[in-house]
Amino acid sequence: METPNNPTAVQHRIREALARVAMVMRADEWNRAKTTGLNPTQLAILELLEGRRDGLAVKDIAANLGVSQPTATDSIAALERKGLAAKRNAGTDRRGVNVAITQEGLAALKAGSDGESAAERSVDALADHEQEDLLVTLVKMIRTLQEIDAIPIQRMCATCRYFAPFAHSDAARPHHCNFVDAAFGQRDIRIDCRDHETADPASRAATWDAFTRG
Ligand code: SF4
Repeated sequence: METPNNPTAVQHRIREALARVAMVMRADEWNRAKTTGLNPTQLAILELLEGRRDGLAVKDIAANLGVSQPTATDSIAALERKGLAAKRNAGTDRRGVNVAITQEGLAALKAGSDGESAAERSVDALADHEQEDLLVTLVKMIRTLQEIDAIPIQRMCATCRYFAPFAHSDAARPHHCNFVDAAFGQRDIRIDCRDHETADPASRAATWDAFTRG
């Protein structure tokens, strides 16, 4: 048992804190799911597919959600029955099949996104600089999770071939996005950008080095 004289390791306490936040986020997801008639896994699949014109293969959906392929397959089948997702040929590979969100799926997502969640309210309560620090800390954690193959590469600026960190001397907007050719600040760093294109490993490493050196 933890006491002031015998604290557990800080890593353990951070994990405990993250678990509390994750618990609230799960409750938020169930509340959102209720308004759409979906379960949280089905809702998460629609969120993952939103903004992905070509859709995703079942194995990629499973990897991104951290669920087994059979679980992903069952949820996708339920979404197809409701008309919220549909299978289509994957690009030029006629043998490959992707799952994509439909117009009805987009409408269901929109219907479920009304109102601020409890987790969002806790972020709102932070000062601007605290939000920015938290965002950068989370990017660092997600990057480590990618490096150890705990999750697939996410569509973050940190892994994007268009990202030029600290390319400008303007402290408010030091970064540059070569996709839209515009400067942006730390608090605008993306976690899931639809225009993201994964950089090659050597470029990713160099970009990360420049980002963390500041
Ligand atoms: S395209 Fe998106 S992910 Fe890539 S640098 Fe620009 S904003 Fe970031």
